[in-house]
Amino acid sequence: MAKGKLVVYTGCSGVGKGTIMKKLLKRNPNIKLSVSCTTRPPRDEDIEGVTYYFVTKDRFKEIINEDGFLEHAEFCGNMYGTPEKPLNDLLEKGFDVFLEIEVDGGMQVMKKRPDCVSIFITPPSMEELEKRLRGRATEDEETIIKRMARAKEEMEFEKFYKYSVLNDNADRAADEILSILKEEKE
Ligand code: 5GP
Repeated sequence: MAKGKLVVYTGCSGVGKGTIMKKLLKRNPNIKLSVSCTTRPPRDEDIEGVTYYFVTKDRFKEIINEDGFLEHAEFCGNMYGTPEKPLNDLLEKGFDVFLEIEVDGGMQVMKKRPDCVSIFITPPSMEELEKRLRGRATEDEETIIKRMARAKEEMEFEKFYKYSVLNDNADRAADEILSILKEEKE
């Protein structure tokens, strides 16, 4: 059986990548989302083992030392990492696996796995992004300011990604990503 595609899927906080991802998972059963480890505290909507594996800083360091991550990075004061073994198992089984990760991790994966497909999700504007981030109301003001500053830095990395997809509408963006994936698999 052919191996699945590894997809680096990046977009700044509030861009709507989670919403697009849910649509992709619903519409294409061959797509899987890799579950990352993080040291950030869970939000109300988080589910252990589904949205993330929530680990302590010590456990996170242990996994780094065991060489258990394909990539890992710090984002706004918390650590995030992609467990490598479950990812490879899914790819071997033929699933297309999306890594919903920030730019530092994205760059690490592009280097280690040059055959990956990299997709960067862009907002219609920075004003719209701030509106969405505030509308989410899951973060305090300090976090929103940190995430907006980081979003501006992250936009600089768009040029390193093979594809840019504008999220003017989540259904349309999902359609575009499914076409990209189809084309890449041909
Ligand atoms: P959040 O705290 O909003 O869930 O995620 C913050 C940022 O970390 C998002 O850009 C998200 O895509 C990214 N992220 C989530 N998991 C990983 C991971 O395993 N590695 C890296 N490098 N970034 C991740």
